[in-house]
Amino acid sequence: MDFELSSRSEAWRRKLQGFFDREVLPRHRAWLDHTAAGEAVSFMPDLQRKARDAGLWNLALPELAEGEPGTRLSNLEYAPLAELMGRLFWAPEVFNCQAPDVPNMIALQNCATPEQKARWLQPLLEAQTRSAFGMTEPDVASSDATNIATRMVRDGDDYVINGRKWFITGAAHPRCSFLIVLGVTDGDADRTSRHSCIIVPMDAPGVRLVRRLRWMGCEDHVAPIGELTFENVRVPRENLLGAEGEGFKVSQIRLGPARIHHCMRSIGLCELLIELMMVRASERSTFGRTVIQYDTVQRWIAESRVELEQARLLAYRCASRLDQAGHHGAWRDVSLIKVAVPAMLQRIADRAMQVFGAMGGSDDTPIHQALAWGRLLRIGDGPDEVHLRQIFRMEPMPAWTIANSPYLSAHPS
Ligand SMILES: Cc1cc2nc3c(=O)[nH]c(=O)nc-3n(C[C@H](O)[C@H](O)[C@H](O)COP(=O)(O)OP(=O)(O)OC[C@H]3O[C@@H](n4cnc5c(N)ncnc54)[C@H](O)[C@@H]3O)c2cc1C
Repeated sequence: MDFELSSRSEAWRRKLQGFFDREVLPRHRAWLDHTAAGEAVSFMPDLQRKARDAGLWNLALPELAEGEPGTRLSNLEYAPLAELMGRLFWAPEVFNCQAPDVPNMIALQNCATPEQKARWLQPLLEAQTRSAFGMTEPDVASSDATNIATRMVRDGDDYVINGRKWFITGAAHPRCSFLIVLGVTDGDADRTSRHSCIIVPMDAPGVRLVRRLRWMGCEDHVAPIGELTFENVRVPRENLLGAEGEGFKVSQIRLGPARIHHCMRSIGLCELLIELMMVRASERSTFGRTVIQYDTVQRWIAESRVELEQARLLAYRCASRLDQAGHHGAWRDVSLIKVAVPAMLQRIADRAMQVFGAMGGSDDTPIHQALAWGRLLRIGDGPDEVHLRQIFRMEPMPAWTIANSPYLSAHPS
């Protein structure tokens, strides 16, 4: 497999790097000040306009057909761009590449009718609005999506929705105008065909944002997390995304890219954490030596590099499979990186925190958020255990037994 970046991808990366250095990074402190004060980020619309004028827009969205939106970048070509954006939690929004909107765009691009695309996808592509995806429920173990219990009952030309969802990323954003909701449309069908996805406007009567949630004390300022109730919410039939009973199919189309993009961004964040360790450890001295001169610290940095390069190769292979074999062909690789990358992020952030001393856990560095983010990704997008189960199930059984194995010496009879 050849993982050299194509010249096109390298050109995009250089262009993005220039814009990032010139326009995004110098605003980081202002972004932190705005969000700490609980204000909207006033410079964001202007910055987005600049990014868009520079052609750095909707980079994560593949072009499916002539005239469709997107940059025509493959997932492999997008990987280094996502890494660069991952260095700052808020950078993806500048380029309209943030979760959960991009996976929602991909679901709409693949499954929506032309009318739905005009009504729901187009405003997302223009960053005029924001969106969310509502699957998880407080009352059922949502690792197993077949448990999802929200009812979506057909009544004339409408569906009537009743249920409760929580940990819905982006649902508490003031500009979130719709959610893609997974619910049961046919309780009598088999477990994998009971569910459907439907587009629910946030302002539909009966939709209520109950509260805003934080995760390990961290606020998601880009896509604030919400808990919602749906009480006799009436949505027209034409809001159904995909056919009735295809809820899991639609969900899977968005989940592959959602997972791989999280991993790519996390790899970029790990690059930053290694840089932070290098600089901090060379600037502090204890007991007559700089901290970076200690074997332990050198080892932490080197181990972080080993793990990061492994994870990057795995992510590139996954991206390449996604490009060549589609969601089904890449399923195993998506599970592999979904388990490997968050655990790596957690380990590297933990080392960085130790290298920084007390400062590492403060709001003066992004380290504690990186640690929380790595921890979150071990649960979000499906807990590790579910992916490990899938990986185990795909492990082939060798065609020999212990007694007749050509690899073993004589077996006691
Ligand atoms: C910050 C954050 C943002 C999120 N954003 C969204 C969102 O935008 N939309 C959305 O719908 N959901 C979202 N989620 C929810 C997330 O997808 C769920 O939390 C996840 O799927 C697990 O569901 P659960 O919380 O109900 O845990 P449960 O299903 O109750 O599982 C609890 C634990 O059981 C164990 N377990 C489960 N299955 C197995 C198994 N097969 N083998 C072994 N152990 C197992 C695992 O350790 C698991 O963590 C988000 C979660 C977080 C933390």
